[in-house]
Amino acid sequence: MRVRNVKNKEEIINNSNYIVMDPIKNKGSWQKVFNNSNPIYLEIGMGKGNFIIKNAKKYPNINFIGLEKNSSVITYAIKKVNDIELSNLKFIRYDANKIDDIFDKEIDKLYLNFSDPWPKERHAKRRLTSNIFLEKYDKIFKKDRIIEMKTDNKNLFEYSLISLTNNGYIIVDISLNITEREDLDNIKTEYEEKFILKNNPIYFVRMLKRVNFWKKRVFLINLCYN
Ligand code: SAH
Repeated sequence: MRVRNVKNKEEIINNSNYIVMDPIKNKGSWQKVFNNSNPIYLEIGMGKGNFIIKNAKKYPNINFIGLEKNSSVITYAIKKVNDIELSNLKFIRYDANKIDDIFDKEIDKLYLNFSDPWPKERHAKRRLTSNIFLEKYDKIFKKDRIIEMKTDNKNLFEYSLISLTNNGYIIVDISLNITEREDLDNIKTEYEEKFILKNNPIYFVRMLKRVNFWKKRVFLINLCYN
């Protein structure tokens, strides 16, 4: 996301109650941060925060965390909520490359909205749905893994479907243009609003990887043969 450099960004970040300054300290104990045992949904690359903020307002019984590495971008999200109190929302300034520094088996759902496509093949590993990232996500999910993705980038969408499927995920829901889906409660992101104005289709997928899926099957197969 390209944004102008925000001059007093460090001051804005340091003074916000929404920012968790030393996220590594909370590894394994994020429920304590929220002071409840509600599910935790994480958005990686939240940008200016519209999606996660609207979700937090709409679903008070779910805890939401927005992760963003760009300091200037994160200040836009902070400014949107500084005057209101949402006890189920936190922001983290951090690089998703080191996501397993911050969480340990505590995330219930992961959102990847309009992630950087990294179109060059030699940069494929940097895509947030590459094997490298999926292995890291395995460590942060509490139980079953649920990833919801939206993008207008066809190549990234195709790549991600293959990558997640090869890593044991199944498709639970899919749309080749979520804008046309009236049955879904689709909270739009900043990028989404922009791309809709350009008439780009917005691809959406929800994928699930069950823990113990293969263990159960191997057990059943063994049972049949014994
Ligand atoms: N989700 C927002 C922003 C999409 S742009 C929306 O849909 O409007 C992608 C965002 O991901 C950018 O703000 C970028 O800074 C952030 N990002 C990219 N790689 C990241 C990483 N490794 N860790 C954290 N944030 C990242």
